[in-house]
Amino acid sequence: MQPVLSVKNLYYSYHNLKGETPAIADISFDVAEGEFLAIVGPSGCGKSTLLSIIAGLLKPEGGSLSFGWPTTIGYMLQHDHLFEWRTIYQNVILGLELNKSMTKENIDYVLQLLKDYGLYSFKDQKPSQLSGGMRQRAALIRTLAIKPSLLLLDEPFSALDFQTRLTVSADIGNIIRQTEKTAILITHDLSEAVTLADRVLVLSKRPSTVKAELNIHYDIDRASPLSIRNTAEYQEYFNKLWKELSDDVPK
Ligand code: ADP
Ligand code: MG
Repeated sequence: MQPVLSVKNLYYSYHNLKGETPAIADISFDVAEGEFLAIVGPSGCGKSTLLSIIAGLLKPEGGSLSFGWPTTIGYMLQHDHLFEWRTIYQNVILGLELNKSMTKENIDYVLQLLKDYGLYSFKDQKPSQLSGGMRQRAALIRTLAIKPSLLLLDEPFSALDFQTRLTVSADIGNIIRQTEKTAILITHDLSEAVTLADRVLVLSKRPSTVKAELNIHYDIDRASPLSIRNTAEYQEYFNKLWKELSDDVPK
């Protein structure tokens, strides 16, 4: 089957007055339809740069990107970027407004997402009236509203406190699985990568290459991340990633 995205020998460096900062040395990977791929790597290794290239915000200097078919990209960042002067409903339909696609079908879809993910009764409230976790769910619904065929998530949980982070990352992981989205999640949290993803790529330090790749499989249902964390497989995957990454972290 044709991959949704194929990245080949990607190279990128930033240029400014002080010179050149190579961020990505050589990265290649494919993403299959419906796959949930996590990418981990040391801070500053080029993870956000990679997502920006995939999103079309930066142009690669070398190598290529190809999409299997016309792809709508949904991009979700660490900060939810909800607008305080808009209600939750007005925030989640923003993408539809901008795309001029406010059809009844699309609006019904958004209302259904709000219902499914426990935000319907908050739809007329302002973002500041919601908890951090609810805001992040609202940001995801806004991203899903445009029915993206590829979701890019750049450390979307890292601004949340630990407790909230566990539940919100589980919720969002479940939403992505239920809606059968293809997703790329950047995270520096190994346990998040190992509980959520089907496959994890480990990047080396800057300028990055793909250092290792790990396929993740559990015999039990993923819906409960806490039970996942108690399995022997989880420990094994976590330790493997830890080992790969600790080679690159200054001691
Ligand atoms: P990560 O998301 O993995 O933490 P980034 O992709 O944000 O890393 O950045 C990779 C490297 O490129 C870092 O060393 C960073 O300092 C550098 N960098 C990022 N943005 C710029 C920029 N606009 N100009 C120059 N260097 C940059
Ligand atoms: Mg980053």
